[in-house]
Amino acid sequence: MAWGYRLELMGGREGVRCRENDRGCAVGNCGHVPQYLSAYRYTRANGRAVTATRPLCVSHARQFSMKYSLAWPDTLRRIKRTSLASWVQLAA
Ligand SMILES: [Zn+2]
Repeated sequence: MAWGYRLELMGGREGVRCRENDRGCAVGNCGHVPQYLSAYRYTRANGRAVTATRPLCVSHARQFSMKYSLAWPDTLRRIKRTSLASWVQLAA
């Protein structure tokens, strides 16, 4: 079971980390530079809820937002970078 689908504009720090790890868009062999971070929570077999995050390029982020009826993050730019960063760390 998965829930809590989210899509965020990648902040500077996340973008740098992706480049350092040589991570491109997470979809197949798309390989485009990721600019967005998609995330959702799911329950592992042991019952623990974990957050999965994937970097996405613009077009795949757009598909993700349409699939889950998410607001396009251009309208959410005011979200504090710090809250996103700590939220990403939860997933690590
Ligand atoms: Zn892509």
